[in-house]
Amino acid sequence: MSQSVIGSHKFDLDTPILCIDLDLMESNIQKMSDYILSRGKTWRPHEKCHKTPAIALAQMQAGAIGVTCAKVSEAEVMAAAGVKDILIANMIVGKTKWERVVSLCRHARPIIACDHFAQIEPLAMMCAEAGVTCRMMPEVNIGLNRVGSRPGQDTLDLAMAIDKLDGVELAGIMGYEGHLLQVQDPAEKEEKITEAMRTLVGCKTAIEAKGIPCEIVSAGGTGSYQITSNCEGITELQAGGGIFADPMYVNKCGLTGLDYSLSVLATVASRPEKGRMVLDCGRKTMHPDFQLPLVKAWPDAKVTALSAEHCAVDLGPESQDLKIGDKIELIPGYADFTTILHENFYGFRNDRLEVVWPIQGRGKIQ
Ligand code: PLP
Repeated sequence: MSQSVIGSHKFDLDTPILCIDLDLMESNIQKMSDYILSRGKTWRPHEKCHKTPAIALAQMQAGAIGVTCAKVSEAEVMAAAGVKDILIANMIVGKTKWERVVSLCRHARPIIACDHFAQIEPLAMMCAEAGVTCRMMPEVNIGLNRVGSRPGQDTLDLAMAIDKLDGVELAGIMGYEGHLLQVQDPAEKEEKITEAMRTLVGCKTAIEAKGIPCEIVSAGGTGSYQITSNCEGITELQAGGGIFADPMYVNKCGLTGLDYSLSVLATVASRPEKGRMVLDCGRKTMHPDFQLPLVKAWPDAKVTALSAEHCAVDLGPESQDLKIGDKIELIPGYADFTTILHENFYGFRNDRLEVVWPIQGRGKIQ
């Protein structure tokens, strides 16, 4: 599909396609930014839900300082589009990737996460040789038990090593409270996140007590930012996925105040039974884990199963007259794993196609 369809009504386009309601996404972006900035923090949204420079730039226009990403190749896409302040919140290992980081340092300002000397020393040496300085940030394990140095002496040792080496400098520290997103009791969730953030901020205090500046304390995801933004000592929030406000965040993490802005436009391909329809999209269009898609505009229609290219939907009294050829929208349960299945986002305003954005970070897994 080409740009020549700009201006078309959504339901005149071929399916399946991945759609953004631009008004709702822009409103979500502004609300997230306002929430975070009003608490005196900076916003560095994770770009994994969109992987698209145009959206990162829209977030920056609304107040974000840059992006968080997971891969060097994603950072390269963002840097090429003019996003300079980039946190790669992941462990970067191997000569080829370090060479790419050195190059990135020449035309952007990356920060590289780390949790071991083995990720720091070779990069520092290569940066020093190339005459560049790369910012680094120990990731502290604040309970997620994924990666991260232990709070206390281990983290302090990493910070001191970064501080001593030529070619790298300490930008701050980070932690991710991903293990607490789905705590259901609001008071317990707040208490546990506050405690995890205290641990993280304690690491900053210990580093600064050694006379080493530790400016940034970065944390927070969409499922927690409404709490983490209020935690003392946290300076920066990485929450990103809220711009689409997926059902997964709303139903499982208690996200409030944002609207679903992403959808998959699909066509009814089959009506095998009175109470059931099958759509022309399946797992190769939408990722079903965490949360099945919702049927927009037809609340009594329920997705029951996804196979590779089919989506089975049980129909209720309101939706049972849907017929073969009708177009309907589904709200994907979780954007991250859906976005990567598509070449483009189709951006609509009042249901008219306004823009087609290539998902440039798609496939950037190195
Ligand atoms: N920061 C890191 C390091 C992450 O791994 C994640 C999610 O996996 C996030 C932040 C939060 O991202 P999002 O707000 O899109 O859920």
